[in-house]
Amino acid sequence: MIIKPKGTYDLLNDDALLYKYIEGNADRFMQSYNYEFIRTPIFEDSQLFHRSVGETSDIVTKETYDFLDRGNRQITLRPECTAGVVRSVIENKLYGNRNDVLKYYYLGTMYRYERPQMGRFRELTQLGVEVFNSFDPMIDAEVISLGYNLIKELGIEEFYVKLNTLGDKESRENYTKALKEYFAPHLKELCPDCQKRYNTNPLRILDCKVDHDLDIFKNVPKMSSYLSSDSKERFKKLQEYLVMLDIDYEVDESLVRGLDYYDYNVWEYVSENKNIALGGGGRYNSLVSSLDGPSLPAVGFALGVDRLIMELKDILANKKIEKEIDVYIMSVNEEEKRFALTISQDLRLNNVVCEINSADLSLKSQFKVADRLKAHFLVILNSDDLNKGLITVKDNATKEEVKIDEKELIDYLVSNI
Ligand code: AMP
Repeated sequence: MIIKPKGTYDLLNDDALLYKYIEGNADRFMQSYNYEFIRTPIFEDSQLFHRSVGETSDIVTKETYDFLDRGNRQITLRPECTAGVVRSVIENKLYGNRNDVLKYYYLGTMYRYERPQMGRFRELTQLGVEVFNSFDPMIDAEVISLGYNLIKELGIEEFYVKLNTLGDKESRENYTKALKEYFAPHLKELCPDCQKRYNTNPLRILDCKVDHDLDIFKNVPKMSSYLSSDSKERFKKLQEYLVMLDIDYEVDESLVRGLDYYDYNVWEYVSENKNIALGGGGRYNSLVSSLDGPSLPAVGFALGVDRLIMELKDILANKKIEKEIDVYIMSVNEEEKRFALTISQDLRLNNVVCEINSADLSLKSQFKVADRLKAHFLVILNSDDLNKGLITVKDNATKEEVKIDEKELIDYLVSNI
């Protein structure tokens, strides 16, 4: 027997229903915020991720699925989608009109060679948004609140936004210098990864899960002391907007996020139940130009759909997710089957969810299946009635039965479900 690769899972049963539920809500939500759907390839030129997510990030150094294709091209399965969307915006010159704010959303699988554990997979699904051409804190507030409201809309209540700012380039350079000075005498106390980060990206030491509880972290310099007045002002404005929008947020100066391209505001949606991130995002004003595009400010986030599914399953606990159909059409002989097939098509084209007996079941078994499918109505076909142009319809909850004219069947069912 062949089994699935480590770190992957089949989307089945309740999980599959929840996935479609999340997707449906997301599509509706994105429309009302005026975001357009975008799909980019699952594999890209490896250079794209080296030059965006960053040579020093955990993702690029340890987690990408890289391979040479049959034409000897160096390919990487996307570990995240921002880089692909940015490439697409540049390659397709989507920024044509300088006054347009470009707003995109995507939903798709990403690939990271991580150690699988609860909520951490090697094939993961992200739902994200990317907005280009606005540096106004108002759009950061829109993006953060979009993710926040969507999670709420799905039915998840116990979460909040963890927020920080990494400031502009100069603020970050000054802060990085201060961090290096601070950690220099303590280098040996840090974990091997952080000892490397000290030289490559000292900011990342701050969100190290291994070193986090060390005493030296108690007096670590704070980013807020190194922010330029412009970065401070933008962060203050964003917070005012979030208060106006009733977004439950908390500033956490140790939040730096794992991808190298972020600047200014960064945030995560953190589940209070499990203390895991349901999603995260930030501003990345220099990414477009660093990938040979124009200077285009940008901001976005990605939600972990696998984690949303897990969270929703916990909330629903052992309650079975109800799956119901509108009509079950019962048939036994060939004449009844033919009739069932044609009226099922008519009903389905009228958006009535219906099922037919396609497994050659006895009438008794069909009643059982209809109950299991929680059919609202049963259409009980019988050759004698059909010859008179009549059809029996039974309300499966009240058990009331009516005989109606064959020609009125569709209207009757459409108006009663
Ligand atoms: P990131 O792209 O690393 O900023 O992650 C955004 C969100 O994707 C996280 O907050 C998680 O909810 C989710 N996520 C990231 N990595 C994984 C993974 N390996 N398995 C499942 N979900 C993940």
